[in-house]
Amino acid sequence: MPSLNVQILVAACLGLLLGWLTGALPEDAALREGTLYAAGLVSSVFIGMLKMVLIPLVFTSIAVGVASLQQHHQVHRVWITALLYFTLTTGAAMLVSLTAANLFKPGAGLSLDLFAEQMAAFEARQLTLPEFFQHFFANLFQNPFTAFAEGSVLAVVVFALFVGVALVAGGERYRNILQVLQEFLEMLLRIVGWIMRLAPLGILALLIRLVAEQDVALLSAVGGFIVLVFGTTLFHGAVVLPLILYLTTGRSPLWFWRGARDAVITAFATSSSSATLPVSIRCAEDNLKVDKRYAGFVLPLGATMNMDGTALYEAAAALFVANLVGVELSLGQQAVVFFTAMIASTGAPGIPSAGMVTMVMVLQAVGLPAEAIAILLPIDRLLDTVRTAVNVQGDITGSLVVQRFAERA
Ligand code: ASP
Repeated sequence: MPSLNVQILVAACLGLLLGWLTGALPEDAALREGTLYAAGLVSSVFIGMLKMVLIPLVFTSIAVGVASLQQHHQVHRVWITALLYFTLTTGAAMLVSLTAANLFKPGAGLSLDLFAEQMAAFEARQLTLPEFFQHFFANLFQNPFTAFAEGSVLAVVVFALFVGVALVAGGERYRNILQVLQEFLEMLLRIVGWIMRLAPLGILALLIRLVAEQDVALLSAVGGFIVLVFGTTLFHGAVVLPLILYLTTGRSPLWFWRGARDAVITAFATSSSSATLPVSIRCAEDNLKVDKRYAGFVLPLGATMNMDGTALYEAAAALFVANLVGVELSLGQQAVVFFTAMIASTGAPGIPSAGMVTMVMVLQAVGLPAEAIAILLPIDRLLDTVRTAVNVQGDITGSLVVQRFAERA
């Protein structure tokens, strides 16, 4: 039996191929319907299992991670390095996409009339910057049981941070609670190991559905934009992040790819950094040997806050929409795009198409019509694959970088 790593890679390639073949079948063919139905069932079981462990895993890994960092007096260094890394890499990603969008001008020459139907049928939900902040802060602190039940990752992260700090402040007194949490975390990771055995099947099913359901005519209309987003995202994932990793830790891209591959492919197939988190933690700890203290802290935080792919996409999409409506964004306006996309990507939850919702805010910040995202919605599932993969790659790279700087102390 080939290793799980190989099985996942084969499943991903097979999924793309079978998806393409299924998509080529006539709409009403029984084989097509049957395949899509079966793929839908399998993928929802796989995603459901990942979500099952997600919230308890986020809570315990952050609480235990913070508690052990505090014990080693490294917490400040870890916080600062993590936030600095998140900001700098997200900024770098947007510089890449803004430069490329200025050079290649995606959408220029396309007529907005082409999309009139979609835009007329679409009513954009207003999301201004003040509204976004209001929403963001209101959701930060929640009754933990509500947050657990509703799967609000950010609120769970915040509660876990409090618990982690309190565990240290209480010291010996809470030793038993900390021990229970440590054992619980270890047990959850064992369950993740079992779920991972299903990953090849889950990824196969997810990719069959994804590829089969693409609307080829629509894709070719906005082909230039798709190529630009794919190209810049891949550049960030294949050049910028590996370079940062190499310069800070001396590790080669190949070594990283071998260790992180399962998580990156899972992110590609699920389009969800949160659902991929259990896999990312396993890859970082088991394959890349990131200490639990850093992986348990940086990865859940990164899955909700650090989204290089999303920021890159939002910046490129804003320029695409501007070209479509025939507006030239000045350098100042592009700076506004840069900062709002940074905030928007930080606030976007790690779920499929979350970037689309916060994208409205970026468009409105420079006076572009929010309805224009109706054009982007049909292609979003496709673009979400690569941007989520790079989001997750950025998080795992971050855990290695943070470990390097924390241990240098
Ligand atoms: N799907 C992305 C993620 O989970 C978020 C986005 O829509 O950009 O990381």
